[in-house]
Order: sequence, then structure tokens, then C-alpha cells
Amino acid sequence: MSSIPTKVPFVNLYLQHQPIESQIAATLEKIIQHGDFILGEALTEFETAFAAASGVKYGVGVACGTDAIALGLQACGINPGDEILIPANTFIATAIAVLEAKAVPILVDCDPETALIDLTAAETAITSKTKAIIPVHLYGQMVSPSQLLDFANRHDLIVFEDAAQAHLAEREGYRAGSFGKAAAFSFYPSKNLGCFGDGGMLITNDAEIAQKMRTLRNYGAPSKYLHAEIGSNSRLDNLQAAVLNLKLPYLEKWNRDRTDAAQYYNTLLEPLKPKGIVPIANHSSSGHIYHLYVIQITDKSSINRNQLQEKLTKEGIQTGIHYPVPCHLQPAYQNLGNPGDFPHTETLCEQILSLPMYPGLSNTQIEQVVRAIS
Ligand SMILES: *Cc1c(COP(=O)(O)O)cnc(C)c1O
Repeated sequence: MSSIPTKVPFVNLYLQHQPIESQIAATLEKIIQHGDFILGEALTEFETAFAAASGVKYGVGVACGTDAIALGLQACGINPGDEILIPANTFIATAIAVLEAKAVPILVDCDPETALIDLTAAETAITSKTKAIIPVHLYGQMVSPSQLLDFANRHDLIVFEDAAQAHLAEREGYRAGSFGKAAAFSFYPSKNLGCFGDGGMLITNDAEIAQKMRTLRNYGAPSKYLHAEIGSNSRLDNLQAAVLNLKLPYLEKWNRDRTDAAQYYNTLLEPLKPKGIVPIANHSSSGHIYHLYVIQITDKSSINRNQLQEKLTKEGIQTGIHYPVPCHLQPAYQNLGNPGDFPHTETLCEQILSLPMYPGLSNTQIEQVVRAIS
């Protein structure tokens, strides 16, 4: 173990849980007494509440965000061999899920300022087999709904949102997950809304997609022992749903805390821009919910990213890199591209650094982080 005391952790989940700890314990105890563990009441309640909060009719809870994408694509009618556009700059799960659905991920480079999928680059990746685009609302910032819908309409593509980092984010009057044909969320503990393990959800306004998803997550069975599809075993546990029900009412406040912290970072970091330290751009004003607060250490800087990260670690400040190696340069995914194919993504991977960000991060801590960077 490191002997350096942590001054500013990267995340602190206990700050969220401590105030509602006894409520959580009481609720879990009740479920244990009733033995209501799988496809129970708390799950139905959470599916309804989370879909409604996102401005959508139906929610289907699944075991994790990856399954929400993989099964969700199948529920949307994606067939084996269909090509699906995904950003080169994303967490690997987006690519895994496409492969699990037996579709073909086609990587697209990102916008160098926002790190989000570049729709101009996406145009050139379209073939006669392209069926869908998965915008990833990365770091908590949505890809522009109007631009996406225009793009998808012109090319007759399905929009399937990967909103795993964007619970209740907003842009152009849309909430994350509300404008695509369907959308996937993750409730991994460190996401903006997280449970006590793994969890995920598909949301959609389409009753047929929701019904098909309910079948797919439950052994492909529309009713007991009738297996209409092959499907999977992928349900959001009732215990996890109960925790999420108790946390959901706090989500908007927690997102606001993150936005406030990001604004304070922005203000304090402004003088460092001429020195080559530049926050990833926010093009969606107040709707960015800052799952992560990411800066770029550009070529203009006198220090490189790895050196800066090391210095911060020595000062007790934890940071992260999201993500250090792009999908197409990972050993298992080299068929998705060659070095140099997605230059903006590759540059970002070498230059980005995620600073501490969580609800409850104090202004004093933010000042400590920025002072250490300066
Ligand atoms: C977390 C995440 C996922 C996967 O969610 P899991 O619950 O970990 O399976 C997918 N896409 C993105 C962008 C994510 O951040």
C-alpha cells in the first residue's frame, strides 16, 4: 500500500450512502423477510420511476449496462452482421455489447474538443450494412439530439443511446435516453446513480421493444416455460432496485453538486489555458452532469499527462484516465482499426486526465487540486 495519505480521493461513495444508511438497511431487511428477490415489487417501482424521471414510458431493469446495450440492440431488431457506428473514444463495454448482439462495431473518431462522437466522421463510415448509431453521452455530456436525429433520418438509422454516464443529463430540451429508439443505463456503483453491485436498464417509448426486452432478460420467456427467444438471464435484482429507489430522489441534487464543482474547477483552471491545460469542452451548458471532470494536457504544456498524474499522486490527489487505450489498440480488438485510424481519439488517450469529482467534493478540495496542478 502507498504511504501517501489521500487528501482528495477520486470518488467518495460513502458521502451519498451515509445519510440514508438506516433507511436502506430497513428496506433490505423487509425484502429479506418477504423473500422477494427476483422480478419483485421494488424492481417494478424503480423501472417506472427511472423511466418517468428520464421522460420515457418504459424501463426494463437488467443485470448491467453492458447487457442493457447487448439485449437492447436485439430488442430493437438488430440482426447478426448489421453494422453499428460507435465512437472510438468510449469505455470498452460499448464495443463488447455490439459484439454480444452479433453485430459489427464500426468505430468513428471523436470531436477533439468535446471528446464525443464526430458525426461528420460518421458520415464516411456508413455502408449498405449500417443499421444503427450508438452515441455515447460521454463524461455526462449528451451528443446533440438534433444533430443525431437529423443524421439518423438522412441515413435511415436507428439511434440507440449509450447513456451509462448520463443519468438525467439534458441537451436541447431532451433528457438522456429520451430521443433515441431506446437507451441503455448502467448503475455500476460509481456512476451518477449507482447501486451496491452491478445493474442496468433499458428505457424506451416503444411498447413492443420494452416487451421484447422483458422476454430477452428472462430466458427468452414471455411466460413461464415458453421460450420464444433464446434470450439470457439478466435481471436487475430486487435488492439492488430497492437501493436505487431510495437513491433516485437525490439524483438531481447530486448532479447539481457535480455541475457546481465543475464550474468551480473551470473558473480556477481558466488561467492555466494559455499553459496548455484545457478542460474538455462543454457544448451543452447546464445539461452536462459531469460523471467525470476531464482536462487535457496539450502539447503546449511544459509537463506531460503522465508526469502531472504522478505529481498529483505524490500530493495525495487521486486521478483517473478515461480511457488510456482506445478500443482499436486493445489486444482483443485489433480488427477494429489500426494505429493512426482515429487520430483525435488517440491523442486524447495520451493527454486526458480525470480529476476528483463526486457529490460532496468541497471547494477547499477543488482549490487543493488546482493549486497542485498550478
Ligand atoms: C459503465 C459503462 C458501460 C457498461 O456498464 P456496466 O454496468 O459496467 O456493464 C457502458 N458504456 C459506458 C459508456 C459506460 O461508462
